[in-house]
Amino acid sequence: MRILLLGGSREANDLADALAVVGTDAIYSYAGRTSEPQSTPLPTRVGGFGGVEGLRAFLRDNRIGQVIDATHPFAATMSTNAVTACAAEGVKLAALERPAWVSGPGDNWTHVSDTTAAVRALPDAPCRIFLAIGRQEVGAFGAAPQHHYLLRFVDAGEAPEVLPNADVIVARGPFRAEDDRALLQAHRIDWVVSKNAGGQGALAKLEAARALGLEVIMIDRPAIPDRLVVTDVAEMMAHLGHARLGV
Ligand code: NAP
Repeated sequence: MRILLLGGSREANDLADALAVVGTDAIYSYAGRTSEPQSTPLPTRVGGFGGVEGLRAFLRDNRIGQVIDATHPFAATMSTNAVTACAAEGVKLAALERPAWVSGPGDNWTHVSDTTAAVRALPDAPCRIFLAIGRQEVGAFGAAPQHHYLLRFVDAGEAPEVLPNADVIVARGPFRAEDDRALLQAHRIDWVVSKNAGGQGALAKLEAARALGLEVIMIDRPAIPDRLVVTDVAEMMAHLGHARLGV
């Protein structure tokens, strides 16, 4: 049975490695957002499918029997399309989704539902903000141009024109708490804005914010229709029948 692995997350790459080890017939799909996607041992395709109808056609044309949605937890359009297309084509679907981060003692988080709400949750007075939400949605912060922003991108690039007061750093996780703490101090950051991505790779900024007593605006995950969810690679391999051979 051929698998379509919808990727773009660290877990997707770990799962691709595990599937390759057991010789699974699988295709890895990237959206094509980053200029240098991580290499995987699986055959790879890049780019959107063309909505639900395009994905349905891809499933049929490639005789896909199982879709694994291991996209980032904020890739809600792709995940919703996968639910709809798999239901329509009678293809099995399982999502690999890391648990969300949960605040603990010493954390000072304000939860918001999306990026627009995150902009509204910032104070009016100018402050210095670490905007660790990737590249796609930073333009929304043009509605609050009085602040100074520190942007961290995976690929080289400029800050959008709507953010005249911004520095860009280019780095790919995983990050270390002590490094992020030094970064926040060096840039005299007052506030951190984060998506609730979960996992270890990007946790460092939240540990750093806690250590420095900074406020965090936490963008909660978008809603995705019901589907079977497993939370780690070993569990996914077991779900696929590779319990003894997997990671
Ligand atoms: P999205 O809003 O859910 O997807 C928008 C469109 O991009 C989809 O409708 C689909 O196009 C295409 N697409 C998304 N993931 C794809 C995949 N794995 N393979 C083929 N096409 C894909 O997703 P997004 O937020 O733009 O994220 C795009 C990619 O970046 C995903 O692979 C995600 O895992 C990764 N990523 C996202 C974030 C984030 O914060 N959103 C963070 C890190 C990584 P069609 O409708 O044409 O099929």
